[in-house]
Amino acid sequence: MRSDKYTNSSRKKIRGISLKSIFLILILIVAIIVGFIIYNYVKGAGYKDAESFEKFVTNQFSYMEKSNDDSVKMKEYSKYGEKRSVAYRLPMTGNELIDNRVKEIKKDLVNELNRYDRAKYKEPDNNLVKTAYLTGYSISESDKLDTESILIKTQCFEQREGEKLEMVREMVYPINYTKDTGLPIGAMNVFEGKYRDVLSEVLTERVEDDYSKTLTEDYTKYLSSKTQSFENFVLSDDKVEFVFNSNTISTQETAAIVKISNGDISDICRDEINLRVLDPSKPMVALTFDDGPAAGKTEKLLDILKENGAKATFFELGKNINNMRDSDKVLKRMLEEGNELGSHSYDHPNLFTMTDKEVKEQVDKTNEAIMNATGQLPTVYRPPFGNGNEKITKIFNVPGVLWTVDTEDWKSRNASSVESIVKNSGNLDGKVILMHSIYDSSVQAAEELIPWMTAKGYQLVTVSELLTYKYNQNPADVKFYGYGYFSGPKI
Ligand code: ZN
Repeated sequence: MRSDKYTNSSRKKIRGISLKSIFLILILIVAIIVGFIIYNYVKGAGYKDAESFEKFVTNQFSYMEKSNDDSVKMKEYSKYGEKRSVAYRLPMTGNELIDNRVKEIKKDLVNELNRYDRAKYKEPDNNLVKTAYLTGYSISESDKLDTESILIKTQCFEQREGEKLEMVREMVYPINYTKDTGLPIGAMNVFEGKYRDVLSEVLTERVEDDYSKTLTEDYTKYLSSKTQSFENFVLSDDKVEFVFNSNTISTQETAAIVKISNGDISDICRDEINLRVLDPSKPMVALTFDDGPAAGKTEKLLDILKENGAKATFFELGKNINNMRDSDKVLKRMLEEGNELGSHSYDHPNLFTMTDKEVKEQVDKTNEAIMNATGQLPTVYRPPFGNGNEKITKIFNVPGVLWTVDTEDWKSRNASSVESIVKNSGNLDGKVILMHSIYDSSVQAAEELIPWMTAKGYQLVTVSELLTYKYNQNPADVKFYGYGYFSGPKI
């Protein structure tokens, strides 16, 4: 009995163990199969003919494409080849500017991928079995900024003998534009003047954290304040994503996407897109007109500026504002069209001969005239005859701005003389040109000079814009910028 009992229980035990083991082994086998399927799905199962290439493309694109905008149509193209296969899925927005940009990107891509593929196959002992290039896109929107961003992505795959098909390179091309106007927008439209320095700092820190294990040797090159990398972003309501091709900042085969929440860069984020496009790396010049407003002439100058997409700064006399009929309409228009309005004192005295109290009176009376006409105060001032200094600037309580190029238009009263002085002033980048709005000859010279400068590639900006973009100044700082200051590019 005892022995039987023992035998029985021992058999049961043995049977119990083996059942458990079989069960565990089964679970293990299932897990391996499931893992293998998942692994292949994630890694890309590859393809062996035209039909499976289509499946592979669809699978890859399934996570690349993401768009809520039904108005954007998709243009598809794919071609299977035993050695080399390509597929394109590109957006068609119906907006000519944007669609042309997409076409340009595609053209560049075709050239780049051809070059890249040829080089791959030319490598000695490359063991390449096949290559594939897939281009797709995703779209994101910001309702707050009223923008749409398209991110075109190209993934390069290769398979070498005895190995799996794998992604080896990813390139990204963002396009941003406003939904309202359809105009393309760049970093300058989205960020305030000093954005390059701030972004360089914030992004370097973030990249060093996020990609600490895969940083390339020269990653800082792509994050310096001089780089064009900051143009490569995608906008949404709460964040900006900066995108980098693989092997720029990170050695990973995928593109690097660095998300920066708007809160982290709130001091450089504009509240709304500023469509005035200024590029600080390109030449800028500030035209200034003193002694107005002058009936007829100021309006004519505004017309010329508007026709040429140019802006200028007007240093006006309080007295003229008060005496000129409809000066409020002219000054309001001046500001609405993006020009700057500065104070030039009330009635053009030599401030050096005045007491502080008298200067203060000049300031207050002019501010009052400008406030009555436009509802706002002047943002800069220029002392009559250039007679200003730090002390007088404190009384005006806005930056004081002198000039670099004196056209002597008040002396010559001759348009061609004014024109030749400006045209013979060499490189005008960073300079401030002094003219007056009260002479017909000056208006006539402006009519020639404004399109001439624009054609030469100069961006005609206000003095505050010049201070911000060319001299890295805060135009809210109450400083006196004298004759030597705007001496042009500092090379
Ligand atoms: Zn003057």
